[in-house]
Amino acid sequence: MATVRKRKIRVKKKNFAIFVIFVMFFVFSLYEIGFVIYKVITTSEPKVDEKVPKKKETKKETSDYEKKLKELNNVDQKVTYFRKDNIDRYLTYKRNNPDMDDIQVIKNVNMNLDLTPYDDKVKALNIGKNNILVNKYYYLDKNYVPDNLEPISKVYALSGMKLVSEAKDSFEEMCEAASNEDLSIVAMSTYRSYDYQIDLYNRYKRQDGIEKADSYSGRPGHSEHQTGLAVDVYDGELNYTSFEKTNEFNWMQEHAHEYGFILRFPKDKVDETGYVYESWHYRYVGKDIAKYIKENKISFEEYIATH
Ligand SMILES: [Zn+2]
Repeated sequence: MATVRKRKIRVKKKNFAIFVIFVMFFVFSLYEIGFVIYKVITTSEPKVDEKVPKKKETKKETSDYEKKLKELNNVDQKVTYFRKDNIDRYLTYKRNNPDMDDIQVIKNVNMNLDLTPYDDKVKALNIGKNNILVNKYYYLDKNYVPDNLEPISKVYALSGMKLVSEAKDSFEEMCEAASNEDLSIVAMSTYRSYDYQIDLYNRYKRQDGIEKADSYSGRPGHSEHQTGLAVDVYDGELNYTSFEKTNEFNWMQEHAHEYGFILRFPKDKVDETGYVYESWHYRYVGKDIAKYIKENKISFEEYIATH
């Protein structure tokens, strides 16, 4: 009997031990599940310690930017062509030109007058359009040839002269109108390829030295003649450099814009265009832009910088 009881007790102990292990296992599982749930909740919520410094940073950036705007007398509210990306350049330029009007600072930097010609060049703006900008800061690739180049009627041009179709039609219309007043406008240089410009520029460079050559001739890729929208004219008699003395010049001063052409390198805009005055070089920009430039007496550079 005694051994039977002992055995029963042993069995009970064994069951109890299994029960305890089972309970421990159950509790542990609950803990595990709880832990997983806790993890899910905490990771799905934005972390507080990541959020706070970000907010602070944005505030700091804003206030730095606002400080800069303040130094520029909040000129961004006065003009539509304030370019946020240029803000540090505006500041530097303003500090270097303390007496300059703030709006002029914005315009000049937009025209890249704070940069070094040819050193800080980027691709031409508005490629393929009438408002394409090519100058000492904007270049065309070696292989850029405009679409729709067409020869100009020999009545109004030396042989082999080509312009982009729309410019060519307008040029002929302009020449015809002038000829109705017994004036003779003749195209003597129009579209020029990159390779042609290499030869031309090198010739000028040999002849006059780099500095002088740069004042009147575009380096390859930087000549407006590569756009197919520029034309050098003369009266069919005098050398083109004397075009200013002709009646044709006076007529063009009054009427070229009606046909979408502008005098591209005016006498009073040398600093903006980067080229000496050229009474013979005209650029097709379309009638609306030509009219605006004429009425506001601005350079094409300033037009682009403010639009
Ligand atoms: Zn020219």
